[in-house]
Amino acid sequence: MALSEQAICIRTTDYSETSQVLRFLTRGAGIVSILAKGSKRPKSKSGGALDLLSEGQIVFTQPASGAMGTLFEFTETVSHLPLRTEARRLNTGLYMTEFIGLLLGEGDAHPDAFDLLHNALGRLADADAPVEAVLAYFQWRMLRHAGLLGQLSNCVECDVSINAEHGAGAVFFSSARGGLLCGSCGCTTDEKINISTDAITGLAGLQLARGRRGVSLSEAQTRGVNRLLSYHATYQLGKPLRMARYVIR
Ligand SMILES: [Zn+2]
Repeated sequence: MALSEQAICIRTTDYSETSQVLRFLTRGAGIVSILAKGSKRPKSKSGGALDLLSEGQIVFTQPASGAMGTLFEFTETVSHLPLRTEARRLNTGLYMTEFIGLLLGEGDAHPDAFDLLHNALGRLADADAPVEAVLAYFQWRMLRHAGLLGQLSNCVECDVSINAEHGAGAVFFSSARGGLLCGSCGCTTDEKINISTDAITGLAGLQLARGRRGVSLSEAQTRGVNRLLSYHATYQLGKPLRMARYVIR
């Protein structure tokens, strides 16, 4: 039975001279990998090969276990063209699709994650987009969605509250322990990174925002948060994100 879903293309692989295997994050059916026969022909129903970040309505068959579904139709509903005009914005969008593809498995629906990616890509397409802040909010929300965010306001070991007063060099983050560590607890942990005061206050800002958009963070705060969350995701996933070196500073 054919399904119709709102979808964003998060991976493309050439399958043959004329066909692609496409991985989509759909709103109602989660992540699906489907074969787009003849998609690379100029006169195909999708109007040529599909690019990463393409967003639209897809009609497809749900993959049976062990087999691959088939894409029948793709109708673009959102043009992410403005996003493709600047490397920094495009790379950030590609990092987000890689992030989401690694974090979510196939099979379960994640409408919240779809909406998050849809909104983030839409924001990145704005000429005045605060790229680093959009990324910080995205990473934070996705890790929270996946249940991986961890303890980011108190030390995971002794529960002391951690704030800007701890100062530089006195706070650590351990992905294995699942959160922040004060200076003394950090001394007894091998896997850890040093956290800047900007990262601590940036995280506090995101926690306070509680899902609302328009979080106002400084550049140093967003950079600190992005570095920390990317480190955490990499550790949890057990492999580095390919796009990280273009995006995380
Ligand atoms: Zn402690």
